[in-house]
Amino acid sequence: MSEKIVGILGGGQLGRMLAASASLLNVKVVILDAGDNGPAKQILAPSEPRLAHIDGSFADPQKIRELASKVDVLTVEIEHVDAAALEDIQTTTGLQIHPSPSAIRIIQDKFRQKEHLASNHLPVSDFVAVDSTVESISAAATQLGLPLMLKSRTLAYDGRGNFVLRELSQVPEAIAFLNNRPLYAEKWVPFTNEIAVMVVRTVDGELQSYPVAETVHKDNICHLVFAPLRSRDASLSQRARTIAENAIRSFTGAGIFGVEMFLMQDGKIFINEIAPRPHNSGHYTIEACETSQYENHLRAILALPLGSTALKVPSSAMLNLIGYSANMSEITAITTAALAVPGASVHLYGKAECRKGRKMGHITVVAPSDAELRARLRPLLQALPDATP
Ligand code: ATP
Ligand code: MG
Ligand code: MG
Repeated sequence: MSEKIVGILGGGQLGRMLAASASLLNVKVVILDAGDNGPAKQILAPSEPRLAHIDGSFADPQKIRELASKVDVLTVEIEHVDAAALEDIQTTTGLQIHPSPSAIRIIQDKFRQKEHLASNHLPVSDFVAVDSTVESISAAATQLGLPLMLKSRTLAYDGRGNFVLRELSQVPEAIAFLNNRPLYAEKWVPFTNEIAVMVVRTVDGELQSYPVAETVHKDNICHLVFAPLRSRDASLSQRARTIAENAIRSFTGAGIFGVEMFLMQDGKIFINEIAPRPHNSGHYTIEACETSQYENHLRAILALPLGSTALKVPSSAMLNLIGYSANMSEITAITTAALAVPGASVHLYGKAECRKGRKMGHITVVAPSDAELRARLRPLLQALPDATP
């Protein structure tokens, strides 16, 4: 299909699912990540010595250069990489890097990302840079109101860099919690729903978006995804897709991007954040769409024709399997229940250790109708340890 070798910075679950897609096209993949047996490396036995994976950090310039020297195209499954090293490799060697190092650099700093979106006239709620001092955060609260969302500018995921400031007396606690990370503040968005759209772009700039999904978060972590979005507002899906496509047009580079958005009571949409890579809200595309987000990412960065992003089932949902404790027993109970559910597909990521709050896998359910989807989902939700009886 393609003789090009793909190098991926990061070897977690997104790298594993990219690798699974690559294997169907017989595309060779080399992974850079710490350790020899992470989720992606586990399923990718190198077929020849030059395809050996690299043990090291995706934030280590030396290791990134080593990966670059072995491959024809570089891509990422995480944005917390050394963007300067990627920029340097691109200018000195001309290697194909997707998405572009500059897109990664902007997106990996959530404050710069918000500035970029605002300056491109994309809808974002108010935000302001803050220092980790009581004075600075209090001034932001006066400007933007309470509650106030404090966010780490960098290295954020699963809401771990976020602190909801409900009253000014909590400022010292917030500073301690966010541990002197570079911060910014966002105005609280009283959204009714969260939605997300995956967008893929080819090296020639052709753009396609996936159907709008509704994402439901619990404790700041994505819990459930439903696709397609159901709404009485007939224009909503098209408006959301257009905003997502315009947002991705403002960045450079090929591949898949995830656009997280807030939906307001009056139908207004704000962009929350962009992911320059496959995204949790697009896992459903593996079973529910003509071409998954992973395969289309590979097709895009390898300059192959894109596949259709259309749904091939009437209704779908994705349930994240988040660790409850240090062992997998709770998750095993849910996956065992899933085996009896028609239309359910279990994905386990092969992570070495289970931990509370860690993404260990997911289950996608597809169905011929929304009613049937709910019926199929019910036994899975009931198998969750914290299910409300
Ligand atoms: P991830 O990258 O895993 O999606 P993250 O750590 O980058 O997460 P955000 O997406 O910024 O975190 O925020 C996590 C969740 O917190 C959002 O999905 C939303 O539920 C809530 N949230 C974020 N920003 C705001 C805001 N300004 N107002 C209200 N809720 C918010
Ligand atoms: Mg994020
Ligand atoms: Mg997010």
